[in-house]
Amino acid sequence: MDDKQKLLNTPLTIYVCEGTPSEIEEWFKTINIAGVPLSNQELRNAAYHGSFVNRAREMFSNSQNGNMARWRTYVKGDPKRQDILEAALDWVSDGNIEEYMAAHRHDENIDELANYFETVLDWVGNVFDSTDSVMRGQHWGEFYRKYHSNSYSKDRISERMEELMGDEAVTSKSGIIEYLLDGENDPELLHIRIFSASDKKTAYAQQTKKAKEQGISNCPMCVQEDGANKSKIYKQSEMEADHVTAWSKGGATTLSNCQMLCTKHNRMKGNR
Ligand SMILES: [Zn+2]
Repeated sequence: MDDKQKLLNTPLTIYVCEGTPSEIEEWFKTINIAGVPLSNQELRNAAYHGSFVNRAREMFSNSQNGNMARWRTYVKGDPKRQDILEAALDWVSDGNIEEYMAAHRHDENIDELANYFETVLDWVGNVFDSTDSVMRGQHWGEFYRKYHSNSYSKDRISERMEELMGDEAVTSKSGIIEYLLDGENDPELLHIRIFSASDKKTAYAQQTKKAKEQGISNCPMCVQEDGANKSKIYKQSEMEADHVTAWSKGGATTLSNCQMLCTKHNRMKGNR
């Protein structure tokens, strides 16, 4: 059977939906469950259809657009499933896509949307040299809002990025982007590798043996503090592993750089 015949023989189910945009969007969700689910942005395009969506789709949903390869370096997803458009709307509206689409539904141009998208991507391109896959799908709209008034040295950023990408202790490579934008203040973004169970056990045994011989606490910070806990011997379950020299100052995640601290002191040190 040829394709035309197949189409002609296919029974159609037609729904006529009435209501507000959000009610119509709910309708689409309900009737769509039989086939491939529509993406959230496809649903929004249907609910807020009009001149604005038509123009926005022409620009952001056309995989033949000459800018698409550059855009997809930074934005994850499929233009045909409206993922690029969704990112553009998300950025310009600071996450309030529905509100934005409702307010602009009958606009005859998409200048603000298009300009904002390019502004964000120009900024990214001015800060980062990289086209690595780690660049794709970052929260660029949010980062632009938070960091665009800071100044960065592109050379320095690309040097640090290379070092961090190659650093085995950095287990979240995607966290490198915000870590650098934030001035390398928050190593938690990088999910630095933690000490192994056997390193912790060994460090605990060594420290505790020494402490007992000397009649002092096995938490070196409790000893320093010289308070009620100065000779307290903690169980291993009451202690946490700490980098003697912080990772950010070049300290490795190895036994020789591992010390056990009581939970209270480890948290205090971690927040410094
Ligand atoms: Zn302590």
